[in-house]
Amino acid sequence: MIHDTFYSLKPYHPHEPGLNDIIFSFQNKQVLVRKDRSFFEYRDICDSVHCTYLFETGSLSFYLADLSSIDHICLSLQQLRTYEPRWLGFAAILAWQLYTWIDANQYCGHDGKLMHMDMQERALRCDACNRLIYPTLSPAVIVGVIHNGRILVTRYSAQHSSYSHDALVAGYAEAGETIEETVKREVKEETGLDVSDIVYYRSQPWPFSSSLLFGFFCHVSGSSQIHLDRNELKTAEWKSRTDAIDTADDSSLTHEMIEVFQKGLVH
Ligand SMILES: [Zn+2]
Repeated sequence: MIHDTFYSLKPYHPHEPGLNDIIFSFQNKQVLVRKDRSFFEYRDICDSVHCTYLFETGSLSFYLADLSSIDHICLSLQQLRTYEPRWLGFAAILAWQLYTWIDANQYCGHDGKLMHMDMQERALRCDACNRLIYPTLSPAVIVGVIHNGRILVTRYSAQHSSYSHDALVAGYAEAGETIEETVKREVKEETGLDVSDIVYYRSQPWPFSSSLLFGFFCHVSGSSQIHLDRNELKTAEWKSRTDAIDTADDSSLTHEMIEVFQKGLVH
């Protein structure tokens, strides 16, 4: 998974950038990079642009700035999924998540005053009312439903998602439910199936959608007859361990869970 390539985040510690530190800049779901596709460093801009501290990992710190006046080319978020080195691509996607959070919360929703980055914790603060806004994080499930040695593989309908590769049942947790209840509800809503033996597998931060994904495997309890939610899914099919399954690339929890199934590590 793409985040496995990433070093652990260091504690939140805003400080001035050093010459080698990385500066991200975003426009229209694209990241601005040098013409050789490498990311900008503070040495490229020094004092000419205001930088906002984002996070720190390994020996590097990462910042946000507006670099639109500097010669650049653009990479799409999708290109970052397979950017080399992988850990820097993940850092850029994580920076995108924080950028969208900061951009959407420039003003306090209570009194309309300007918010600013807090110096003690990763939060936006309103000095007028002391309101703190933390980064948006939506818990969601990825579900490997297994029945008679086969796994349930889905494809999204075009109106629901532009992702056209194979997927597993997935969805966001709702207020008031446990993550296991989310698993049962999402499988039922999308396919009409009841499931049991719900076993946690792994989690993955997924900054594209500000999500924290929880992977589960489970089994069908009762009928294996599928009743598809056609608003959300185009297909849902049972696939054996040897059937071809196309997950676009190896960056996702979905890819790893399908691989684990195909290797016979879950039953
Ligand atoms: Zn306020």
